[in-house]
Parts: sequence; structure tokens; C-alpha cells
Amino acid sequence: MDKSNQKCPCCSGKTYKECCRKYHQGALAENALLLMRSRYSAYALGVAPYIIATTHPSSPLYVENRQVWLKNIHHFYDQVNFNQLEILNTSLNDQESFVTFVAHLSKGDQDLTFTEKSRFLKEGNAWLYVDGKICKGRITANL
Ligand SMILES: [Zn+2]
Repeated sequence: MDKSNQKCPCCSGKTYKECCRKYHQGALAENALLLMRSRYSAYALGVAPYIIATTHPSSPLYVENRQVWLKNIHHFYDQVNFNQLEILNTSLNDQESFVTFVAHLSKGDQDLTFTEKSRFLKEGNAWLYVDGKICKGRITANL
């Protein structure tokens, strides 16, 4: 299904084609907040290669085997509904940035909503997700 004219899952209020689509197609996110939002919408829409491309090699989420990693990501987003993204706080700098957000997720009747403070590093011109501290919630899978 073509999702370009639907609202972007990152809750920007814009359509997907006006918002995160360009990042999923290869444009570099200008800052860590845009990267975070586009990673959330990539999970919501199942754009696994983007998740992989924007994860820092030093991240605990980094998986050496691409096939295994793709399978893990597919497994995660097949099971989980991405209901809403709420940005609570940002600290945007030149090399290291932080974004605190609430990811409203569910799996069937189960509420998997969690709050995380994510850390991002800039490598060359690209912002990459490094790691995050879960502030509230039970899920261990980071976005
Ligand atoms: Zn978006």
C-alpha cells in the first residue's frame, strides 16, 4: 500500500512524503531529532534497512549478521503497533545529541509504552543512534 499521502507515523502532522520518506530514501537527517523521528516511522512502516543504516557500530543494538538483524527487526515490528510518538525533551549539539521521547506501543492488549532518553553521535555528516536509557516502561527493544 502506498503510504506517501498518509500522516507520517512520527506524529509531525505532515504526510509521510513531506516528512520522513526522504530520509528512508537516503537523505541524511539534519539533526538527531529528525533522525529519531525517522527511525520511529521506519519501525512503524517496516523500513528495516533504514534502522540498520542509522545504528552506530558501537550500539548495543548493532548486530554483525545483517540477515539475523533484519529478521529481528521484522519480527519486532510485525508484533508491535506503533501508536504514537511524543517528544519530551531534546539536547541538540554538533557531535553528541540527546532526545527524550515516549514511544506509545502495544502488542495485542499489552501496553508496551516506554520512555527513553536516546543518545546520538554524528559520524561524518550522518547522525547515528548509539544507545538509550529507559526512564519508564518495561520494553528492552530500543527505537
Ligand atoms: Zn515523519
